[in-house]
Amino acid sequence: MPELPEVETIVRSLRPLLTGREIVDVKVTYDPIIGYPDKETFAAELPGRQIETVGRRGKYIVIYLVGNELLVTHLRMSGKLIYIENAAEIDKHTHVVISLDNGYQLRFVEIRKFGRMYLIPKTAPQKAGGFANLGPEPLEMSEEEFLQAMEKKKTRIKPLILKQEFIAGIGNIYADEALFLSKIHPERTADTLNLEDKKLLFKAIQQVLLQGIENRGTTRRDYVDSFGESGNNQNYLNVYGLEGEPCKNCGTPILRIQVGGRSSHYCPNCQSKG
Ligand SMILES: [Zn+2]
Repeated sequence: MPELPEVETIVRSLRPLLTGREIVDVKVTYDPIIGYPDKETFAAELPGRQIETVGRRGKYIVIYLVGNELLVTHLRMSGKLIYIENAAEIDKHTHVVISLDNGYQLRFVEIRKFGRMYLIPKTAPQKAGGFANLGPEPLEMSEEEFLQAMEKKKTRIKPLILKQEFIAGIGNIYADEALFLSKIHPERTADTLNLEDKKLLFKAIQQVLLQGIENRGTTRRDYVDSFGESGNNQNYLNVYGLEGEPCKNCGTPILRIQVGGRSSHYCPNCQSKG
């Protein structure tokens, strides 16, 4: 699933291309992709609208339209938002085609059909799934804010940092990597972490996300940016997807266990149970 670094990579590449462009036509071929409003309204409202800029909130791509509305996209498992010439062949898993005034299109492509697009008023973020309930941005919050958020938390640390209402944008890859860097076992509960652990975890979260952005995202199965290009960060991972491989610190084989229903990769020697 695209996480903060993958979505940020897409947003940074789309921003200069989409800013100032006008939407001229919209076609929706698989209705459930449109989460709000209904397909007809979505397709009727967008043409004639100008794009002000492109941003990101958590794992959501936010296209700001001139006026009072946002075009919000969540890629979910394997969605792609592709920027491509009108004339280019249309992939059979294309569900939404947004034509621009420069001969290019923005296409929403996804085999699994879990992704969603929403056209919402800025004042009604609750219309876009979990968009309204996102926690702070990990790259914009201070250490102090993170420590405050961690106070009195007693749940296991891995599910906690995956929780989008707690902190936005982290998924399974970057959670496992951050816990490895901070030497914290994924099953530990938040109340067993001392001040030093929490500070290390916050630093590690920022570090793995920034590295992910620098490497233009992690491509494990199918993530690509808006030009169809894979990321490079899979070459820099320490634990995620590396079950059985020797730990880069100590040589102990990396283990994979289920924590809160999600597979978690960690080094049983480096990551302390506290
Ligand atoms: Zn190790």
